[in-house]
Amino acid sequence: MSAIDELTGELPAGVLVTDPDVMEGYRRDKAALVPAGTPAALARPVSTEQVSVIMRWAARHGVTVVPRGAGTGLAGGANAIDGCVIVCLERMTAIREIDAVDQVAVAEAGVINADLERAVRGQGMFYPPDPGSFEISTIGGNVATNAGGMRCVKYGVTRDSVLGLEIVLADGRVLRTGARSLKNVAGLDLTSLFIGSEGTLGIVTAATVKLRPLPATPPAVFVASFPALSAAGQVVTMIMAASVRPSMLELIDNATINAIEDYRRMDLDRNAAALIVGQADGSDALKDAERIATICEQAGADYVACTRDPDEADGLIAARRLAGTALLEAGPTVIEDIGVPRSRLAEMLGEIERIAREAKVRIATVGHAGDGNLHPTLVLDDTEPTTRDHALAVAEAICLAAISRGGTVTGEHGIGMLKRGWLASQLDGTAIDVHDRIKAALDPRGLLNPGRGW
Ligand SMILES: Cc1cc2nc3c(=O)[nH]c(=O)nc-3n(C[C@H](O)[C@H](O)[C@H](O)COP(=O)(O)OP(=O)(O)OC[C@H]3O[C@@H](n4cnc5c(N)ncnc54)[C@H](O)[C@@H]3O)c2cc1C
Repeated sequence: MSAIDELTGELPAGVLVTDPDVMEGYRRDKAALVPAGTPAALARPVSTEQVSVIMRWAARHGVTVVPRGAGTGLAGGANAIDGCVIVCLERMTAIREIDAVDQVAVAEAGVINADLERAVRGQGMFYPPDPGSFEISTIGGNVATNAGGMRCVKYGVTRDSVLGLEIVLADGRVLRTGARSLKNVAGLDLTSLFIGSEGTLGIVTAATVKLRPLPATPPAVFVASFPALSAAGQVVTMIMAASVRPSMLELIDNATINAIEDYRRMDLDRNAAALIVGQADGSDALKDAERIATICEQAGADYVACTRDPDEADGLIAARRLAGTALLEAGPTVIEDIGVPRSRLAEMLGEIERIAREAKVRIATVGHAGDGNLHPTLVLDDTEPTTRDHALAVAEAICLAAISRGGTVTGEHGIGMLKRGWLASQLDGTAIDVHDRIKAALDPRGLLNPGRGW
């Protein structure tokens, strides 16, 4: 009996799939230039116990396992490896619990971020991490990449909203980390260790997440149009230095504005060099938005507006949320994800413009500017090897420019396969050695998502 037949026999019918046509849809994520292998099988478990069975089998047979959520990743982290079993959590969609008193929810890994948000909204709460992919990405994938989003500038990234995890280890044992209480310093912070580990240390099957009460009043949205990109970068530093805290602070450059408008008409100003779009929430929302608008005027904005009208506000935020999808539709892309200290944002934007000009590559930049997190997106004409190599060299130059400014090669998308080569410029030998030792302790045979992450 083959190893795959053995696993088929250990799982209920329909969990394991070997049909190449079905598996084709699970071979890669959204990173255009990253190669993907051919899996031996695709598993779609519906319970933690089934994930355990798969991992015990994989350990027995030395089979590589690639964990997968919805495959919306932008670094090739969920791409198949030849001969692997893809373990896709998409059918683990139960929200096991929502507790309005403790303000926590327990969601299985396959729950779509926006479904969790809708479920808790009904009880007067919200789940802050809101990646641009929130309608299509899973909580498990968000945890595995420590996903960010637009609200992070005020509420933090996924790590800041996770209290505990249920994880299946490489040997099939189930590890439960953290606690339901807000404060907990018992033992090492294993929850944090697994958050952002990109499927290399264990398979997340459920997360206990922290919720927040919905503000009693609607948020206020502001928009400012700038005649120069550098001024838009500078205003972000000015806003964050003022004693006002937006709940979103986003930057959209001219190329991204036009990609959004080409994709769907949203009535953005196609001639603006850059837009700053954001939101303020809480009892002083409108006052805070007006203060931010004033700062934008002082920084040279040629148009500013604030609104609490729900339709107008939703329209502006929806336009920003469309940026990722619009850019993915604009052609083959490399979506970069650098982070820099906010004080270096304007300088970094100038450097990206310089790199694009000299390398003759189209780069559209959008980003969570309030976090210093930018997505310079290389839009390519084709995926020919020379185009690809040139694009990757340009992407590397952008990453190195971010590192030299005290920043990072990835603010929220993760290393995946795409950024492995560039990581050595950010992490030194000692840091890599510590990573390797943690991996060896948890997955001594290197079965979980090898070749991804560091
Ligand atoms: C249009 C668009 C907009 C986006 N906007 C943002 C954004 O604003 N912020 C942001 O952070 N990201 C963004 N992303 C990237 C992506 O959506 C996130 O990285 C997301 O967290 C991936 O979730 P997923 O379920 O699709 O995971 P996948 O792509 O399936 O997997 C991502 C990584 O996590 C691992 N993994 C997945 N599930 C598990 C699990 N249960 N246990 C262990 N490992 C697992 C995989 O092995 C892989 O390494 C965007 C993507 C798109 C396409």
